[in-house]
Amino acid sequence: MKKATVGASGLVFHEPLIFERSVKDRQGYSLPVCDVPDVRPEDVIPQAYIRDEVTGFPEVSEVEVVRHFTHLSQWNYGIDSGLFPLGSCTMKYNPRVNEEVAALPGFARLHPHTPQELAQGAIRLMYELEQALCEISGFDRVSLQPAAGAHGELTGMMLIRAYLTSQGNPRRKVLIPDSAHGTNPASCTLCGYDTVPVASGPDGCADPKAIAEVMDEQVAAIMITNPNTLGLFERNIAEIAEIVHAKGGLVYGDGANLNALLGKARPGDMGIDVMHFNLHKTFSTPHGGGGPGSGPVALKARLIPFMPVPTPEYKDGEYYLETDHPHSIGKIRSFFGNFGVMVRAYAYILSMGPAGLKQIAETAVLNANYIMAQLRDVYHLPYQALCKHECVFSDKLQNPDGVTTMDIAKRLMDYGFHPPTVYFPLIVHGALMIEPTETESKQTLDTFIDAMREIAREAKEDPEILKTAPHRAKMRRLDETTAARKPILRYETSEEK
Ligand SMILES: *Cc1c(COP(=O)(O)O)cnc(C)c1O
Repeated sequence: MKKATVGASGLVFHEPLIFERSVKDRQGYSLPVCDVPDVRPEDVIPQAYIRDEVTGFPEVSEVEVVRHFTHLSQWNYGIDSGLFPLGSCTMKYNPRVNEEVAALPGFARLHPHTPQELAQGAIRLMYELEQALCEISGFDRVSLQPAAGAHGELTGMMLIRAYLTSQGNPRRKVLIPDSAHGTNPASCTLCGYDTVPVASGPDGCADPKAIAEVMDEQVAAIMITNPNTLGLFERNIAEIAEIVHAKGGLVYGDGANLNALLGKARPGDMGIDVMHFNLHKTFSTPHGGGGPGSGPVALKARLIPFMPVPTPEYKDGEYYLETDHPHSIGKIRSFFGNFGVMVRAYAYILSMGPAGLKQIAETAVLNANYIMAQLRDVYHLPYQALCKHECVFSDKLQNPDGVTTMDIAKRLMDYGFHPPTVYFPLIVHGALMIEPTETESKQTLDTFIDAMREIAREAKEDPEILKTAPHRAKMRRLDETTAARKPILRYETSEEK
């Protein structure tokens, strides 16, 4: 194995606050001499608001402003910097053309109160995106309104509750396999349900027998993630759906990680009644920095009367927004949801086409299995099976030498990579959850694999270098406990310190 090249190099600048760069009377602009009469402030501004001196603004030159923000941006690590193998997050490269389409003034500057006859293009886009998502997932309708995956989960649980209430009993409990995403129990609780955890089988998949044992007439639904958080396809999903349906319950599918299924399999064909997408994961919107997301919720025919309003519709050559749904759960988001994210998803789906979507799934699965195959002799693989979009290792091999998953993750930064997801899912001790996505080349994956193998060697021969990592990052090992217990939420100037 050739030695991994350390990827992080170059200069890391120290950068003070822009206020600390300030020098009195320095200017970042020059304006021509004023050729109209001066207006006296007291003629236009009420006396009470007039100040003699305005202070506290940074006084810097143009080049200082540019360098300041460029330096700050260089401390960051994003998908444009390199591989971002954060499991369950699908940090794939976002083609620039989707950004350009979303920025077209006709979309970006359209006021949400524009009369419908003047907003035909935008309503048509929502209408057609819904159709495309229905076809991809195998459901009858999709509400585009939820603003994130967890918001889609809540909306889906509200739909289930509304449906069961219309049948005479909302029921009390929701079953959740122990490999579920953390947002699942949170959404159930927010919707007023008690969650009942169900243990996965020894193969890492939800166990139909265990589910049959706890399934009764008080269970409203099961919430199941497929592929699950171990990256495994829930191959008993149809049998599980039958068990739940037989007792009058519904099946909620967490479709946040749909990358592995695109064009290959449809959750709507597997007995799932309602599911959310994460447009910002699967359908190409940059995410993870707190920006807008979109978590559309897909549903089967019997849930349609309860859909959020408004819904985009088409009749007699015209697109319109329908609010007349008497049994609707109501509005769950202002206006129509995060429209810019929908534009990106629409552009992405059209530019990929059916064959392109299928190729995404094939390459995402191939990449994850390639990493799994290249690392399984040096990292412990707790579940021996082909994976889908991600693979999950444990810390079993490194742990006896006192090296933790956190040490491995921090050391990866020295090799120029963003660390994978760590300590999740909870059912794997010291989990390392790696999702390469389809947008990475074999060369990039090989460099990552080399780094991971090198770290495994260091764990045996030089564990100290791991325990004190990162050595090359802007910030060294942070004290996460103190950061959580005594947060400093405002920047302190050097003087204040
Ligand atoms: C990311 C994710 C979610 C939550 O999505 P947000 O947009 O972050 O709210 C839910 N379930 C799974 C499986 C996920 O990976």
